[in-house]
Order: sequence, then structure tokens, then C-alpha cells
Amino acid sequence: MITFENVNKWYGQRRDYHALVDVSETVNRGEVVVVCGPSGSGKSTLIRTLNRLEPIDGGRITLNGEDIHRKGLDLNALRSGIGFVFQQFNLFPHLSALDNCTLAPVYLKRATKAEARERALALLDRVGLAHKADALPAQLSGGQQQRVAIARALAMQPPLMLFDEPTSALDPEMVGEVLQVMKGLARDGMTMLIVTHEMGFAREVADRVLFMDAGRVLERATPEAFFTQPEHPRARQFIADIR
Ligand code: ATP
Ligand code: MG
Repeated sequence: MITFENVNKWYGQRRDYHALVDVSETVNRGEVVVVCGPSGSGKSTLIRTLNRLEPIDGGRITLNGEDIHRKGLDLNALRSGIGFVFQQFNLFPHLSALDNCTLAPVYLKRATKAEARERALALLDRVGLAHKADALPAQLSGGQQQRVAIARALAMQPPLMLFDEPTSALDPEMVGEVLQVMKGLARDGMTMLIVTHEMGFAREVADRVLFMDAGRVLERATPEAFFTQPEHPRARQFIADIR
């Protein structure tokens, strides 16, 4: 479904910082891939290249066979097929939970108002928030807001979901409810690329773990192998540090 072929990316006018170094990876349909690694290793950069929030400077990224960094690609079409959930929920503050979920499908003419509403209610129910459909973001807890953000991303019916530390801004007692929703998605066969420090979740849900350091993917393994017998010394150190 996704291929990275020798992807390179630098930040800065003079290519000051080599943020992605020769990254080659494949993510198959229905796979749940967790990306982990120390701060600044390039995890966010990697997933942001997938919906072109970041340009790349070398190599190729394909989604369903299509080069997504080619000139002339329809960015709206690309982005409407990829759900993106950030650390900060970024809900529209003046819109109810329900309206947050119907805005994009209606605006992009993917659904009539009635269809969008029906789907949004079903999605809010799926994330356990049917009873909060009319609430404004400010009236919701952090965990609830993040679950609305997930429902909103799902409203476009994307075949792929990207998560960048979706629970890092949450109070600890709210982490579980968000991970629970993500586990449900995984169970339903959603293709997901997830940056997270929740190693218990990774162990339980991931098909594969990628470990990044200084812009490189240093290790790729099943969670079981990664957590019990990491091969790369940097990965070993990382696991020791987070324990
Ligand atoms: P964290 O765990 O802290 O979120 P990360 O693994 O997501 O880290 P990235 O945000 O991808 O790391 O950043 C990779 C490197 O690129 C870091 O050294 C960072 O300082 C640098 N970087 C990121 N964004 C920019 C930018 N817009 N301009 C210059 N350098 C950047
Ligand atoms: Mg990051």
C-alpha cells in the first residue's frame, strides 16, 4: 500500500539537517506499524511526508502505486484519503463534536448533509461519544476531544490512518480510552502508521515496529522480537531507557 524508496529529506536552506536518511520501507494494507525512537529521530517527519505536510528531497513515496510527491498530484484528493491525528487535537472550537465530523465530508461534497450526519453519529458512537454529539470541544475532556478528532478523521472514510503521538498531550487517566479506540480500528483491519511512546500498546497491537534514530530506520521487527531481543545497540538502549 505504501512504499518508501530511498527517501531522503533535509531541513534548512543549506540542507543543514539530514532528517530522513535513505529510508526504504513497505507498509501493507491492513498492517499496523508503530514507529518509535528518541526525540528528534525523524518519526514525525516520516509520517508527515505521507500526506505531503513535508516535502522530500530524494527518493520516492508511493501510495497504492502512485508517486505522491510528483508534480501535479491532487493534494486534496491525497489528503482526503489519509486520516491524520495529531498530539494536539485541533478541533474546530466553535463547532460541536458532530459538526466537527460532518464539516469536511460536506464541504468536499463527499456526502449530503444527511448522510454525513448519519455517518458522524455512527462514528461518535464507535468512539463512545454518541451522547456528546452536541458538545463543543471546550466542554469535553482531552481524551474525549481526541476521540472526536479520531471520529472526524474517520468521517472521510480514509483507507489509511496516521497518528503522531495521539496520547502524549493527555492526562494519564485518559490515555487508555484513546488507545482503546485505536485498538478497535486495528481489529477492524485499518491500515495504521502510529508514532507512539506507548510501548504496551505497541506490543499488543502492532504488526511491526520500526525503530528510528538520527533519520534512519535502524530496526524493523515484530513487537515480540523488538522488545525481547532488539538487535541494534541503539534500540537496546532505547528500550532500556523507557523501562
Ligand atoms: P519527537 O519525538 O521529539 O517528536 P521526532 O522523532 O518526531 O521527535 P522530527 O520532528 O521528525 O523528530 O524531527 C527530526 C529532526 O528534524 C529534529 O532534529 C528536528 O529538530 C528537525 N526538524 C524538524 N522540523 C524541522 C523544521 N521545520 N526545520 C528544521 N529542522 C526541523
Ligand atoms: Mg515528533
